[in-house]
Amino acid sequence: MLTGRSPSAPSSDRVRPDVAVVGAGPIGLAIAWRCAARGLRVAVHDPAPGSGASSVAAGMLSPVAEAYFGERQLTALLVASAERWPAFAAELTEATGVGIGYRTEGTLMVGLTGDDLAEARRLWAYQQGLGLPVTPLRPSELRDREPALAPRVRGGALAPTDHQVDPRLLVPALRTAAQRAGVALVPQPVRRLSDLDAGVTVVAAGCGAAALTGLPVRPVKGQILRLRAPDGLAPGFRHVIRGYADGEHVYLVPRADGEVVLGATVEERSDTTVTAGAVQRLLRAGVDLLPELAEYDLVEAVAGLRPGTPDNAPILGPLPDRPDVLAATGHHRHGIVLTPITADLIADLVLGGGPDPLLTPLRADRFGPTGAVVGGPGPTMEGNPWS
Ligand SMILES: Cc1cc2nc3c(=O)[nH]c(=O)nc-3n(C[C@H](O)[C@H](O)[C@H](O)COP(=O)(O)OP(=O)(O)OC[C@H]3O[C@@H](n4cnc5c(N)ncnc54)[C@H](O)[C@@H]3O)c2cc1C
Repeated sequence: MLTGRSPSAPSSDRVRPDVAVVGAGPIGLAIAWRCAARGLRVAVHDPAPGSGASSVAAGMLSPVAEAYFGERQLTALLVASAERWPAFAAELTEATGVGIGYRTEGTLMVGLTGDDLAEARRLWAYQQGLGLPVTPLRPSELRDREPALAPRVRGGALAPTDHQVDPRLLVPALRTAAQRAGVALVPQPVRRLSDLDAGVTVVAAGCGAAALTGLPVRPVKGQILRLRAPDGLAPGFRHVIRGYADGEHVYLVPRADGEVVLGATVEERSDTTVTAGAVQRLLRAGVDLLPELAEYDLVEAVAGLRPGTPDNAPILGPLPDRPDVLAATGHHRHGIVLTPITADLIADLVLGGGPDPLLTPLRADRFGPTGAVVGGPGPTMEGNPWS
């Protein structure tokens, strides 16, 4: 599509950009950074960078724990992106000099009751059948790893390659890296794509992509809590913990600074109100799994809107009728883990590379007029209880 300039060429002056990116969330900023690093002149348009779903996201990088029945293609994409995360995190930290809370202790998946464990075991067997690293643990092994787990927890398994990052550190770091690479930030909303004048336009506006492109991207509400360990201490557990607790599905993400993220609901609605019932359910399940949470400060209860699609997989590639407009949206629950691979694949497309085979099931033209996937089920997310 475009040819990169030498990286030393001026890239932030106010001439026509090679690439206009709509949206300065993790997806738009990472794409902009990658394109600028390849010598392209890039402008990113957003009145409120980082204010979308990423501002509340937990930051789990969980292709294994999130591998669900009927979604092999999506799982393959998640795995491929997660494999890029160590190098991506190192490169970003090197470019900015700031940490992004990237942690590699792994994820424990647990079941509170016998029923919870039976449901979890069915999923672990499926994940193992895909060749993913899931190691069932005896209760004693579970407690050796995380003594703070409730004695009632019946069993668990370890997903050692499922890691985490802090999106509230990631997005500012991406912004800094992009700006250092010469990306211009334009602090205004884009009302119509025809208002932009650039060689290629990339629509990475999360839920805002629907109004700009007509693509079937819908908001999926997620309520999520933040707690803080008392006395400035770190949380009493190190792994990300994903648990089934009396049929409720929650995750707990510990941060080094004492924060614990406890999430999240999945609701087919577009408001961002926080409800007492959701907070109660999340807290009850969280405290059932880790009783010490009852002593933590509850510091935040918010809701965000995930950009969902009819098959819940992202839309990556040219619009059917506009080959100069690339969609990079619909990342739903996986936008943080999918940031590195999305940035690489879209930058390759911008620079005219042949489409990677990974992009084939993610094309923008896979949806018919009703939003149904044309010619097949696509990378479905059926049976996924997690947010
Ligand atoms: C409760 C919750 C928990 C989550 N947990 C995880 C997790 O653990 N792991 C994971 O991988 N993902 C998680 N996600 C999903 C993740 O947050 C999203 O997939 C990701 O943020 C999508 O990134 P994005 O850049 O496409 O969109 P967003 O982060 O939504 O950013 C979109 C940006 O576009 C801008 N914009 C919109 N319209 C316009 C316009 N017309 N003009 C200019 N700018 C515009 C907005 O201001 C915003 O800055 C979670 C989401 C929620 C809600």
